[in-house]
Amino acid sequence: MASSPPAAGADRPGPPGPEDGRTHDVLVVGGGPSGSACAYWLAEAGWDVALVERKQFPREKTCGDGLTPRSVRQLEDMGLTDALAGAHRYEGLRACGYGRQLEMAWPDHPSFPSYGYVITRHDLDQIVNDRATKAGATVWQGTEALAPILDGSPGGGPDRLPACTGALVKDKDSGRTREIRARYVVVADGANSRFGRALGTSRERDWPMGMALRGYYRSPRHDDPFIESHLDIRDESGAVVPGYGWIFPLGDGRVNVGVGLLSVSGRWKGVNTSTLMDTFVRTAPAYWGLSPETSCGPPTGGKLPMGLAVGPRVGPTTLAIGDAGGSINPFNGEGIAYGYETGRLAAAALGAALAGEGSAALDAYETTLADAYGLYYKVARDFVYLMSQPHVMRACIQTGMHSKSLMGLVLRVMANLMRPEELGVAETAYLALASASRLFPTR
Ligand SMILES: Cc1cc2nc3c(=O)[nH]c(=O)nc-3n(C[C@H](O)[C@H](O)[C@H](O)COP(=O)(O)OP(=O)(O)OC[C@H]3O[C@@H](n4cnc5c(N)ncnc54)[C@H](O)[C@@H]3O)c2cc1C
Repeated sequence: MASSPPAAGADRPGPPGPEDGRTHDVLVVGGGPSGSACAYWLAEAGWDVALVERKQFPREKTCGDGLTPRSVRQLEDMGLTDALAGAHRYEGLRACGYGRQLEMAWPDHPSFPSYGYVITRHDLDQIVNDRATKAGATVWQGTEALAPILDGSPGGGPDRLPACTGALVKDKDSGRTREIRARYVVVADGANSRFGRALGTSRERDWPMGMALRGYYRSPRHDDPFIESHLDIRDESGAVVPGYGWIFPLGDGRVNVGVGLLSVSGRWKGVNTSTLMDTFVRTAPAYWGLSPETSCGPPTGGKLPMGLAVGPRVGPTTLAIGDAGGSINPFNGEGIAYGYETGRLAAAALGAALAGEGSAALDAYETTLADAYGLYYKVARDFVYLMSQPHVMRACIQTGMHSKSLMGLVLRVMANLMRPEELGVAETAYLALASASRLFPTR
C-alpha cells in the first residue's frame, strides 16, 4: 500500500501471482480508452495500479474508429505520437445533406491539433493499453470482473456509489476465480457497464441516448483526406431521422461505414438501425463503391450513453469513467476523447486521494466533470431535443448546408473545439445558446 508514489520509472515489483494477497492502490475494471488512460496516468505518477480486461488484446470493438483533435491531443500527451504514425491522418469533415456537400478543415485551436486519425479500435486500444503496461500498470487480460467486493461501510446512497475495495474476477482460460483487492476502484467497463450496474449506476431514461451500427467496406477512396458525415439519413418510409450516417476512411483499403440514431425519451426507438444502415449504404455517394460485394462482413452495433446520463459516478472509494459514466458528447456521438479525458481526470483525483486527501478528493472528480462538461452537455442535450423534431431538424440542416462559414462554426461547437480565451463567432453563438439552455429545466 503506497502512501506516496515512487518516482516514475523506479523499480517495481513484477506482476503478482493470482493469490499474492497484495492490496493495490487502484483497481481499474475495463481496458478500453477510459480504463487504459486512467491506468496510464496513475502508473506514470508512480501508483500501484492493476487493470482487468475481460478480452485479450488486440480485440475488436464496435466503433466508427474516428479520432478528432481532442482524442489526438490526449494520445499525444500519453507519448503516443509515433505509435499513430501508421494510422490514417485526415484533415477535416465533409458534411453532406439535402443534395449539398461542404468540406471543412478542422478549425485552428491553441490546445488541439488541426488533424485527426481514423484507426481501428482493434489496433488503437492495444496501443494505449500497452502504454499503460509500459508505464508500470499491472494488466490482466482475459480476466473478467464478476462482482464488486463491498466493504460494507456507509457511503453509498441514492447519489453515491458504495465503498468498493476490489473485485471477484475470473480468468477466462483457466476458469479460476480470485479476488483482487485495492484501496480504490475505477469502473471503466463501457456502455453496458454490468460492473457499474452491480454498484448501483443507472441511466437517466429521459435523456438522449444514441444507438449506432457500423461495418467495414473495401473502397477506392479508402485514403480520402476527409471523413464524411451525412446529415439526412432516412428510414424505410423516406423520412429523415435524427442522427447521421458516416464514412470514415481507414487508409488500409477499407472504410468504416455506419449510422447513428438519437433516441429521446424513447422516441425513435422503433426505428430499425439495420434497415437504416442498408438504406444508407444503398444511397451513399457512388465514389465510395459501397455494395454487398465490397462489404467485409455484417455490421455490428452498440449503445452510446451520453451527456453524463449515467450515475452516480462517485463513492468513498469508487469512480465511474468513460461510457460507464455516460460521458459521450451528445452533439456528435464522440466518446473516445471523453474516455481518455475522464480517465485522466479520475487519475488526478485518485492521486490526490492516495497522497493523503482521502475520499474528499474523489468528490472533486464530480466537480471537475461539472466544470469541464456540465453546461456544454446540457446545451448539447437541449440541442438533441430540438433536433428530434423533424421540422426543426430539416430547417436547421437545410439552412446550414447553404453556408460553409455557418457550418464551420457548428463544427467548432459540436466537436467541442471552442477557444477558451477567444470570443469568436462560434464562442459567442455558443454562449447565447448556453444562456438560453439555462432557462430550460435540467434534462
Ligand atoms: C457504433 C459506434 C460507433 C462509434 N464511433 C465512435 C467514433 O468514431 N469516435 C468516437 O470518439 N467514439 C465513437 N463511439 C463511442 C466510443 O466507442 C465509446 O465512447 C468508447 O469506446 C468508450 O470507451 P470506454 O473505455 O469507456 O468503454 P469501452 O471502449 O467499451 O471499453 C470497456 C472495456 O471494458 C471491458 N469490460 C467490460 N466489462 C468488463 C468486466 N466485467 N471485466 C473486465 N473488463 C470488462 C470491455 O471488454 C472493454 O474493453 C462509437 C460507439 C459505437 C457503438
